[in-house]
Order: sequence, then structure tokens, then C-alpha cells
Amino acid sequence: MAQPSLNIGMVGHVDHGKTTLVRALSGVWTDTHSEEIKRGISIRLGYADTVFRKCPECPEPQCYTVEKKCAHCGAKTDEIKTVSFVDAPGHETLMATMLSGAAIMDGAMLVIAANETCPQPQTKEHLMALNVIGIKNVVIVQNKIDLVPRERVLESYQEIKEFVKGTVAENAPIIPISAQQKINIDALIQALDTYIPVPEHKIEQDAQMLIARSFDINHPGFTYEEIKGGVIGGTLTQGSFKEGDDVEIRPGLKITSDGVTRWEPVFTKITEIHAGKSKVKKAVPGGLLALGTQLDPSLTKGDSLTGQVVGIPGTLPPTRDGFLMKLDLLKRVVGVTNESEINEIKTSEPLMLNIGTATTVGVVTSARKDLAEVKLKRPVCVDKGAHVAISRRIDSRWRLIGVGIIED
Ligand code: GDP
Ligand code: MG
Repeated sequence: MAQPSLNIGMVGHVDHGKTTLVRALSGVWTDTHSEEIKRGISIRLGYADTVFRKCPECPEPQCYTVEKKCAHCGAKTDEIKTVSFVDAPGHETLMATMLSGAAIMDGAMLVIAANETCPQPQTKEHLMALNVIGIKNVVIVQNKIDLVPRERVLESYQEIKEFVKGTVAENAPIIPISAQQKINIDALIQALDTYIPVPEHKIEQDAQMLIARSFDINHPGFTYEEIKGGVIGGTLTQGSFKEGDDVEIRPGLKITSDGVTRWEPVFTKITEIHAGKSKVKKAVPGGLLALGTQLDPSLTKGDSLTGQVVGIPGTLPPTRDGFLMKLDLLKRVVGVTNESEINEIKTSEPLMLNIGTATTVGVVTSARKDLAEVKLKRPVCVDKGAHVAISRRIDSRWRLIGVGIIED
């Protein structure tokens, strides 16, 4: 399998069929954590790769498939491209995970179940997040058409059309499918291939990888010789990495001595690169990568490095423990039944900030109408001009209230 050329995000209300659809397209069940399975929700970002293929003999859209052999005529199918799916959770408390996932999405499938009225609260919240983050390449998937009569499919289509008016998804195609019964998957692959193109990658610039996951892949009982270094998963937003590269990770490690806390960058070497299920010598932007490193696996265990940035030593953006941002707030709170107006940001209020794959809390130290200065609980490695998704605690949940652009 080639290195994936782009990441496609799965967004939409809980239980509308995101994880089932990833399985229909890739064969991978991304809800792998036992706790997640128990609670029936995907808590952390899941991901899976697949190859889109085309039968050289059959007409469109039947020719589109993920199978090596065409189901209609038996011909050998040709590879179009390899893609990674990022499965963002739909549960309402987990917007932070969805937002950090959105940072690495090149496009998204907004999954909407036809057997419920549209919009459900998180359908709305996720579409707003795509809007705020600026993910323009969206394919709307109208799922579970096997559960409802034709009239309801048409009615649901009208609801969706009305709902996306004036948003990034206004002109997005709406593809009716059944993820469970694998109906119309060919037409969906055709729409994904057409409407979520491979972005132009800046391969010549300094490498920057956003960390989405980090792991300790060792099992209890491994002997000293068998222990493998820490593994980091994420996406290169620019540049390239090759096996053997020395790298720096920022902000790095939190060190407290004499009551003073500081963050120190971590340096290591890339020992292996995995992309699209295969080991590669070199990786470029597109899809999710896993880097094997010489780090002590205790440093990468349990997603502890999520939100940090990897690059060639000395080339990364600065580590900031605060910044000034220009604000663009929404008019109303979405994702709640009672959509109240959004009040201005006030001094000393805590905000949840998503910057790249990082989630941090910033306390507002000064605020004017369209500018706010924040002091962060956890620093981030980020350049000026970066986008910040801003959430505020409303009725004990973090709700997306707008976007900021880092000025200084
Ligand atoms: P997620 O929360 O959006 O990831 O939703 P899941 O993929 O976990 O699906 C939620 C439930 O809906 C599961 O019981 C699925 O089997 C079911 N489901 C998903 N897609 C379909 C579909 O197309 N038709 C039917 N009948 N059920 C579906
Ligand atoms: Mg799921």
C-alpha cells in the first residue's frame, strides 16, 4: 500500500454510522479501546487506511470500489489513491478530540442518519467546527437509508439541504448510503475522489508533524532486548522525514524544580516510519504516519504527546505560554437545544483552545471587542497566524464559540 495522500475526517452525531462506514470502506473497526467499546462511543481518534480503486471495464459509478477484484465483472481493479480516515467521536463531551482531529483533516464526511430529523445537536456542532476551522471539502453522507421508506429519504434530503445553507457544506454532494448493508458505497467513493482532492503539499519546507496519538507498543513481560522505543502517530503538514533523522519534539517535557515549572524540548532519532500499513524509508505530507523513535516508551504512553509538534532540531515554531489573538466569535451557541447568544469574552475567564492537535486551557488576561490575550495552562508550539478554535464552558460543557488568529 502506498503512503496515503490525504486524511478524510469522519464527523457527525453519535450513532449515525461513522465507525461502521470506516469499516465498510477499510475493513478496520476503529473503536478499539475496551472502554470505548463498553460505553459504545469512540473516545480517542481512531484511524484506518484504504485504497480507492476503479474497475477498468465497468461504467461509473459501479467501477469504484475498495476491492482488488471487481464485484460486477471480476476484472482486476486499478489503484486510484490511498487515503487515511480519521474517526472523530460524536459524543457531545468530546468536542476537544473532534477539534484536534479536524486540524489534520484535508476534507470530511459529514455523516447524517436518515432515520432521525436533521440537524441533531452534534451534526450542527461538527458542521460549525468544519466551518470555523475552514475545512471546505465536505461530502455529506446520508446514512441508514435501509431503515426508512423512500419518502423519508427524500424528506431527510430536504432537511439536510436546508440545514447546510450558508455553510461550507452548502454545495457539498449528498450521497444516500447504507454503511451497514454496503449500499451505494461505489457512488460515495466516486464523490470522495472528486470532492476531496489531494491537497498541494509543501514538501520543500522544514518538516512539521502534528502529533495526534502516541503509544507504548511494548507488552508486559517483554525482556530488555525486546523493548521498543516510543511510537508517535500524526500527520506531516509540510516537509519530509526519513529514517534516521534526528528530531526535536516541542513543547516537550514538563520539568518542575524548586517550585518552578518549565518545558524542555525532547530530542530523539527516527528509527522507523510506517505509512499506509507499510514500512517506508521516507515520508511526505498526506495521511497518518507512525514514527518509531529512540524515546523511552514511558514518554509516549497513552497519548501523552498528543498536541505536540515534531521537526528537525532548531526549525520548529516557538513554544508559547500565552498569546494575543484576533477574535471572530459566532453569534449563537450551537449543539444545544437552547441556543443562547454568545457574550463577549471577559478578563479572567478560562477558555478551551484547540491549536493544531493541541488542546489547552487559556485564561484571558485582557480582552477587547475583537482581541484577547490569554495565558496558557499548557504551552503550545505554534507560529503567528495560526488558527485557534475557541470554546467556552456553558452548562458544564465546552462549547465552540468562535475562532482566533494568533497575532503575537
Ligand atoms: P458512530 O457513533 O457514528 O460511529 O456510529 P456507529 O458506526 O457506531 O453506528 C451506530 C449504530 O448504527 C450501530 O449499531 C450500527 O450497526 C448502526 N448502523 C450504522 N450504519 C447503519 C446503516 O447504514 N443501517 C443500519 N440499519 N444501521 C446502521
Ligand atoms: Mg464511532
